[in-house]
Amino acid sequence: MDAEQLRQYLEFYQDMGIRTLYRREPSAVDVGQAGPEGAPPEVGQALSPANPSAETLTQILSDIGDCKRCRLHEGRNKLVFGVGNERSPLVFVGEGPGADEDEQGIPFVGRAGQLLTQMIENTARKEGIELARQDVYICNVVKCRPPGNRTPEPDEMEICGQFLYRQILAIRPKALCALGGTAARALLGRGEGVTKMRGRWFQWKDIPVMVTYHPSYLLRPYNQDAKREAWEDLKKVLHFVYD
Ligand code: URA
Repeated sequence: MDAEQLRQYLEFYQDMGIRTLYRREPSAVDVGQAGPEGAPPEVGQALSPANPSAETLTQILSDIGDCKRCRLHEGRNKLVFGVGNERSPLVFVGEGPGADEDEQGIPFVGRAGQLLTQMIENTARKEGIELARQDVYICNVVKCRPPGNRTPEPDEMEICGQFLYRQILAIRPKALCALGGTAARALLGRGEGVTKMRGRWFQWKDIPVMVTYHPSYLLRPYNQDAKREAWEDLKKVLHFVYD
């Protein structure tokens, strides 16, 4: 990627709505392991100390550059970094781009993405919380589309996961929402199925993580119960973050 391409890329992502709605003091979120599940932990204190050396999303994107660190770059049309509010107290993490996302360079813009947007906005509205999709931050474990939408391989998740972690540390949200088993595994390192983990609080470093179903799973017609459960999970997250 030459300098001009990088400049256009950065401009593109800034236009895509890296908006500043919340400006919290930078914090020192230290590297640690996933913590115990249960009630959402008190994170206020943990997130308050200043860490002036924190990176920005722009710096991380620039470091990714024209990434060829794993085989996923071979079939990539556009790298899908993330979208939304750089200062969001809530970050959604999906698995990896699909065909529409690869085409547009924006996460969750296909059918699953439209469902995710509806879930966020409709749940918020019903719960009396003023929130639109662009107010949160949305990204994926891997930034390039796996061929045929297969699940990312462990080495691909390992390599690209480093950028996800840096994105989270740059944003320092109050909570994370892991969409589906791959995101849950990347953040929590747990092998349990998503059905067992959903609706419960875990921790990535000192940040509470709610696990729920991936919107693609909810699009299948026989998963109506899961849809209701996902709505419940989202309600928990939204109240924890925005009350
Ligand atoms: N599925 C994902 O996990 N991420 C996207 O961006 C789109 C579909």
